[in-house]
Amino acid sequence: MIRLPALAAALLACASASLVPVIAGAAPATPAADAPAFRAFVEALRPDAAARGVSRKTFEAALGAVRGPDPAVLARIRKQGEFGRPVWEYLVGAVSPGRIARGRARGAALADTLRAIEARTGIPGPVVLAFWGVESDFGASAGTVPTIRALATLAQAGHRGTLFRDELLAALQILERGDIAPERMSGSWAGAMGQVQFLPSTYLAHAVDFDGDGRRDIWTDDADALASIAGYLKDRGWNPALSWGYAVTLPEGFDLTRYAGDLSDFAARGVRRADGGALPGAGRASLFLPGGLGGPAFLITDNFEVIRAYNTSDAYALAVGHLADRIGGGPALTAPWPTAATRLDGAGLRGLQTGLAAEGLYQGEADGRAGPKLREAVRRYQIREGLPADGYATPALLARLQGRGGARP
Ligand code: CA
Repeated sequence: MIRLPALAAALLACASASLVPVIAGAAPATPAADAPAFRAFVEALRPDAAARGVSRKTFEAALGAVRGPDPAVLARIRKQGEFGRPVWEYLVGAVSPGRIARGRARGAALADTLRAIEARTGIPGPVVLAFWGVESDFGASAGTVPTIRALATLAQAGHRGTLFRDELLAALQILERGDIAPERMSGSWAGAMGQVQFLPSTYLAHAVDFDGDGRRDIWTDDADALASIAGYLKDRGWNPALSWGYAVTLPEGFDLTRYAGDLSDFAARGVRRADGGALPGAGRASLFLPGGLGGPAFLITDNFEVIRAYNTSDAYALAVGHLADRIGGGPALTAPWPTAATRLDGAGLRGLQTGLAAEGLYQGEADGRAGPKLREAVRRYQIREGLPADGYATPALLARLQGRGGARP
């Protein structure tokens, strides 16, 4: 099972970007197509492919006609490195009124299938639909880049060590099984396939043949795609007793230093669901204020981390969760988001991580990515400084942190 470590926030700008490892950093040293070296790389794959049960016939059908790297994929690698948009800008695009409407319509048309999937996996229909919507706009944008050539290009370029080489071999295994013809195996430039944007290794581990025709068709079969999403979430430990999280309102004077606990405890402290429903009687949750105190507030459960397993990004997870709520009939968010003046960009977040690490509050990479670890460190710093512990990093917080400069005894 792959746990993809860090999806570039930049990738979130793409229509389909999940289960794809980050391809960050410097441009490849050999951007120009180098067909002989490429073919040598392909030929060298043969023993490992054979060891995985890939026949010569399958190998030839997949790679025999691929004479060089995909220049469009190389161009995309070189474009990486830009930094992601804030959560709320991502939400606007990912949870648009049109997408909510399409999700509801598709949900109605596929109601029987979704009910059957929920009966098997415990994953609610709106959650499955939300992943489908964010990943491929309900199958409409599954990506048309030939997967084998894309993966071979990424593998030969040596990104992420041997990860893409392994994914290429996994893709050959899929072809060997006969799930899809080579010319129909397509997806994103980064090797994520079909309507669900699974990398090949994820596909091998989690894809589902819902209709029982012997093929796991995440490219053109809606039911297989939906069941595969649900299968992945079930395998990653989705807890059917809880939602991904709950949009909530906080009572006046809520004690932000107690930001994690049981849902029943939050309810007892006056936290209310924004849609008027009751919070479950039990279940671990933590308060998530992605735009700081005064902005939209959420209690997120362990299922939020299951969403992040699909794509390691708070913005992504929140978009999927909120889209599921909206498809299920829930209300829009009404609290205001921060303005540009109160958010840190990637460089600012890196500075914050470095500063918090120097204070002994953050143990992790200074990668400029917001997430649970940084949120926890910010809260600990805020509590130490007597500030409202909302876990939200602002430029003012960074200035305060850097002002101390290590002068602390
Ligand atoms: Ca099938």
